[in-house]
Amino acid sequence: MTDYYEILEVPRNATAEEIKKGYRKKALQFHPDKNPGDAKAEKRFKEVSEAYEVLSDEKKRQIYDRYGKEALQGGAGGGPGMQGFSSMDEALRTFMGAFGMGGGGGETIFDFFGGGDFRGQESSRGARQGASKRVNITISFEEAARGTDKELAVSNYVACSTCNGKGSSNPKSVKTCSQCNGRGQVFEQRGFFNMTTGCPTCHGEGKVITDPCKNCRGQGVVKEKQHVKVHIPAGVDSGMRLKMNGHGDAGQNGGPAGDLYVFITVESHELFEREGNDILLDVPVSFTEAALGTKKEVPSLFNHTCRITIPEGTQNGKIFRVTGEGFPNVHGHGRGDLLISIFVETPTGLNESQKELLRQFGETEGINNLPKRKGFLDKIKEFFN
Ligand SMILES: [Zn+2]
Ligand SMILES: [Zn+2]
Repeated sequence: MTDYYEILEVPRNATAEEIKKGYRKKALQFHPDKNPGDAKAEKRFKEVSEAYEVLSDEKKRQIYDRYGKEALQGGAGGGPGMQGFSSMDEALRTFMGAFGMGGGGGETIFDFFGGGDFRGQESSRGARQGASKRVNITISFEEAARGTDKELAVSNYVACSTCNGKGSSNPKSVKTCSQCNGRGQVFEQRGFFNMTTGCPTCHGEGKVITDPCKNCRGQGVVKEKQHVKVHIPAGVDSGMRLKMNGHGDAGQNGGPAGDLYVFITVESHELFEREGNDILLDVPVSFTEAALGTKKEVPSLFNHTCRITIPEGTQNGKIFRVTGEGFPNVHGHGRGDLLISIFVETPTGLNESQKELLRQFGETEGINNLPKRKGFLDKIKEFFN
């Protein structure tokens, strides 16, 4: 399927709100956390994210409506992310962005899709998996480069210690619900239809407790603040997430605990910029340094000092590569480089005697001192011939 409107199941004249609604529905349906290991769902998730990325942007949507998808790929019209959603991270970033989950949130905690979605998949009275949680964490650029350990505070449901999670200390007070015979569901005849609904007496639990535990009010679980230690590996980038198995809510009736998802945002740096696993650094040098050559010491993120030799006649924009001083690969093999980009600064605020020196210099300056200009003049000659 290629039509973005069809992918989100919205009409071509859909409002922004309708597009967002359509995306939400589809994204939740195909979200990887609900379809673990399902390649088809993953593909669909990327598709819906791509469709939303375009249709939620008025300008991109206009281009798409008029000229189709091709007009958005590469070329002048294509902004970042328009080469199709190749990576899952990108698709997940869109998802986070759309629902205000991304970035900057400190360590806010909320249920990840709530427990309901997970519980709904289980039979109403069988073992239930606990709800999974999401934690946003913001780390510094340096922490991302070197790796770090954090302790997260998570508010989780855990089995009640008073009743051992049974909802009552007295086993005899837990009785099979008589309305639904422990099924948790009741049948209703409505016209020609048989309807199944949750049992109103036991609320789908299949059992009723006549003497509920006072500590958990018969729920079998209580909220508890837990401290979870998480190791964030060197090389992580914004939009990545770590899954901490079993650190969500406790399961019920012997079901497994939910998981904790740690979503990472990396702060930007005053000096350095990241591109893949490479680190970019702009180093300003004076016009005389660039002309005569010099040596410079530049900082690296790993407490090394990198010495670079800037040779005589270095041009603006020249890049020097320091191998292995970039981010380590987050999966543990290889690392990026430090790319030092030279910025030749034109002097400002010259006094009269400095200007005089430059004028004198200017009179001696010939075309052989200016390789770019020489080429430029040659091309102009060709152009007029
Ligand atoms: Zn209890
Ligand atoms: Zn019942």
